[in-house]
This record gives sequence, structure tokens and C-alpha cells, in this order.
Amino acid sequence: MENKIYDIIIVGGGPGGFTAGQYASRAGLKVLLIGGGSTVSQVTITDLVENYPGIPEPVNGFELIERFRKQAEKFGLETVSEDVASITKKQLGETGGWEVKTNSNTYQSLSIIIATGASWRKLGIPGEETFLGRGVSNCATCDGPFYKNREVVVIGGGDTAIQEAIYLTKFASKVTIVHRRDRLRATGVLRDRAFSNDRIDFAWNSVPEEILGDDFVTGIKIKDLKPPGDSRVIEADGAFVFIGLVPNTNTIRGLVNLDDNGYIIVDSDMKTSESGIFACGDCIQKLLRQIVTASGDGATAAFSAQLYVEELKGEAYGNFSAD
Ligand code: NAP
Repeated sequence: MENKIYDIIIVGGGPGGFTAGQYASRAGLKVLLIGGGSTVSQVTITDLVENYPGIPEPVNGFELIERFRKQAEKFGLETVSEDVASITKKQLGETGGWEVKTNSNTYQSLSIIIATGASWRKLGIPGEETFLGRGVSNCATCDGPFYKNREVVVIGGGDTAIQEAIYLTKFASKVTIVHRRDRLRATGVLRDRAFSNDRIDFAWNSVPEEILGDDFVTGIKIKDLKPPGDSRVIEADGAFVFIGLVPNTNTIRGLVNLDDNGYIIVDSDMKTSESGIFACGDCIQKLLRQIVTASGDGATAAFSAQLYVEELKGEAYGNFSAD
């Protein structure tokens, strides 16, 4: 049992959480970051990041997050890898605060920053669960090397699907991208690379109906959305599903206001509807989910939490007065 009262507990070990940890620790606050015990930030399973400003050479996602962590710990951030089970209000002496229970410990703090990110959305079709780990995957970096000289299907048309499809062509002899529209959502540079890659084929205006297999995936049944709406089977050894995100906000449901899709509603200072709880990164309602925007949110959340904690302790810097 840990009796120390932290100024801030950050929940989540991605770019938002570690940036918040770095800023708050550097400001001299006592900060604990609880990273997922059984989950990892999506960045850590990204092969290459090439759009983080200041790093012109593409960097592996895991390596980038390690750099975030080291930089934050240099300023005194404490980190643990545990799964948060609950966050509840708790009177801590004179002031209100929070109690965070994990699978193995209980921690207390004056404020909370939620940086829990998001997880892959599921298709919800027959075969998806059955063949998970036996041909169905959400991680090209982890599973791509198993598909050397084999054929795979990628489902989705966003940045993730296209970036991962391009990565998979390092191994697979053919990658068929199944997308429900006749154009891609992905950004220009990724689109151009996919169109000029002769190992990539497209199944436009199509949705997956079923993932087929025996011991492992053998194919995917897709339906053409254009009349006459025929179904056909693409023979493949792997099906990589990248159809967007769902926020990891189940633990804080009921604690702060969420939008209809489960994303945390924050103001421009990263304040949630609950005083003392701040949020940043992919789990908040916003337009653009990128490493750079998560980091920016994280810095803002840390500064907002710092001002909140200083006010609570009667240590606010305040306005200048000659008296
Ligand atoms: P996303 O942008 O939401 O794209 C999801 C894709 O899946 C869309 O093309 C969508 O089709 C399709 N889709 C959704 N539900 C589907 C269903 N039930 N059946 C079939 N297709 C379905 O998700 P994402 O690509 O994972 O990206 C998430 C965020 O991370 C974005 O903000 C993205 O910019 C960012 N990201 C950036 C980079 C980078 O900068 N290099 C890399 C990865 C991710 P529609 O297009 O028809 O909606």
C-alpha cells in the first residue's frame, strides 16, 4: 500500500501521458504515471514515424516512446506498469483528491490526468474473433514477418490502414486493401505511395462479410456495395483490420462527461467536466489524432493541473501587487 500523496497521477503511457509527465515533473511536482500493465500505447506498435517535427529521419514507434519516457524520468517522473481499475474521489486531509486503484496497488493524488488513448475498432463479423492471432491481426509490425511471400488483406482506408499496408509489402507478395468507398481517407503522401506500389491491389466499394479459415485464415468474403451487390472471396493467409479507433474511457465512465462516441469532452485548457481531472491525447474529443497533437495536449494538461494543485495548496503565484 502506497501512502504518498502525489500532486498528479497520470493514467496512460503514450505521447500525451509522457509529455504531461515531463512538463509536470520539470515544474517540480510529485508525479506518478501509471502505464497500462496489459495494454500498450498504439505508437509502440507503429513501424515508422516520419511526421514528428524535429526528427527528420523516420523513427520506430517503440523507440520514440522510449525517448519520451527517458526524458520524463530525467525530470523525476515516477512510472509503474499496472492496470487502473477505478478512480474515486477521496478527502486527503484538508483538501479533496483522488484515489486510484490498480490491479495491485492503491495510490492517492490531488489531481488526475487521463491519457488512456484508444484501441482498434472491431469489424464485428464472423471469423474475426475466431481467427484472432491465427491470421487476423491489428499489428503489421508484430505479425508482418509471418507473411513472407504470402497474400494478405488490409481492411480500411485511413492513415493506419494505408501505412500498415505499405509496410506489409516488405513481406507479403500481394496486399489487397478492402475499402468501403472508391477513394481513400488517408493523407496524400500515403495515398501516392500505395498507388505506386505494385504489390498493392484495391477492392473498392467493398465491405468484409466474413473471415474464412480452418486452423488459420484462408480468405475473406467481401460484398460489393455497388449493384448488383455480389459477394466474392479473396484468398489470403492474413487479414489486417485497421478501421479506426474506440477511446479507452470505460474506467472513467460516469466520472467525467463523454461525447456520444465515448471521447472525453475537454476545454482548451484540457479541463474535463470534473474539477481536478484533466485529459489529453487520443481519448479526448478532437479533430486530429497524432503524436504531435497528443504531446501538445499533454503539455497543456500538465500546466493546467499544476495551476490547479498550486491553488489547492495555497501556493498560486498570482498577480503582481505592490502592497
Ligand atoms: P480513421 O482515420 O478513422 O480511418 C478508419 C478507416 O476505416 C476509414 O477509411 C473508414 O472508412 C474505415 N472503416 C471504419 N469502420 C469501418 C467498418 N465497419 N467497415 C469497413 N471500414 C470501416 O482511423 P485510423 O486510420 O486508424 O486513424 C486514426 C487516427 O490516427 C487518425 O486521426 C489518423 O490521421 C491518425 N494516424 C496518423 C498516422 C500518420 O500521420 N502517419 C498514422 C496512423 C494514424 P471511411 O473512410 O468510409 O470512414
